[in-house]
Amino acid sequence: MFRKLVLALACVLFIGTLAGCSSEDNKDENSSDKGKVQVVVSFNPLKEFTEAVGKDKVNVISIVSDGMEAHDFEPKAKDMEKISKAKIFVYNGLGMESWVEDTLQVIDNRDLIIVDSSKNVNAIKMQEDDHEEDEEDDEHEHGEFDPHIWLSVKEAKVQALNIKNALVQADQANEDFYQKNYQEFAGKLDELYNEYAQKFQEVQNKHFVTGHAAFAYLCRDFGLEQNSVEDVFAEGEPTPKRLQELTEYCKENNIKVVFMEELASPKVSETLANEVGAKIQTIYTIESKEDGKDYLQSMRENLENIYTSIK
Ligand SMILES: [Zn+2]
Repeated sequence: MFRKLVLALACVLFIGTLAGCSSEDNKDENSSDKGKVQVVVSFNPLKEFTEAVGKDKVNVISIVSDGMEAHDFEPKAKDMEKISKAKIFVYNGLGMESWVEDTLQVIDNRDLIIVDSSKNVNAIKMQEDDHEEDEEDDEHEHGEFDPHIWLSVKEAKVQALNIKNALVQADQANEDFYQKNYQEFAGKLDELYNEYAQKFQEVQNKHFVTGHAAFAYLCRDFGLEQNSVEDVFAEGEPTPKRLQELTEYCKENNIKVVFMEELASPKVSETLANEVGAKIQTIYTIESKEDGKDYLQSMRENLENIYTSIK
């Protein structure tokens, strides 16, 4: 209910903003962005993919800014204004952005190319117990699938392809450029996959522990198993019972490293690591840009660190 009210209020403010300053529409646009395809994305991985394919021919703005939690984000009037001025809007899909449908309904931009990046991905259906349902909380508007597709290098390729197609549609003159960049990026994703598929095949222990259950797709790619402090939607500090279970899991599976995410209960991860005598190490969900690293760098580091922790 509260979410709906906030969104309704943002819409009213947004319409007010449009009426108030339509004459200075492009005033704040950087002159070096002139002639580039204006792309608005919901959050960081989509920015990474769009820039990998579009390079200097695109100007990409992310609605969820760095350091913000992508899972419980609510758009503001200024965000809607950005989308209303864009050529392309890219979102992840699979319920990651519960605000998208309502937001797009109030955007007055008939030429906007809308990209659901999850089109044609092989989505993972969520188990009932992946998410502790709270009957009294009507703010849960998640879909039935795990949205973390960008953490699979295989699904990332599909997302980048959907984005490439939209760029070609928006800017046909540069079709060859986008095609070439996409092939290059897809090739690097394949290389990364092949390198680590080989490595993970050779290790016996397949278990790792992290901040929130974001890595189901990465696990599927490489035959691994994740356990986590927070659930798929990064909701809720864990109960003492959950912590007890995790402690036992770590001991049973000889967990030597507990991975810590900047935006998902880092303190609890630290406590858990201390409790079981494990080392603490950063892992990137890429939901926000961290340490200035791009997608490939973050994924390589994730894979290397998981591999080192279990080999
Ligand atoms: Zn997440």
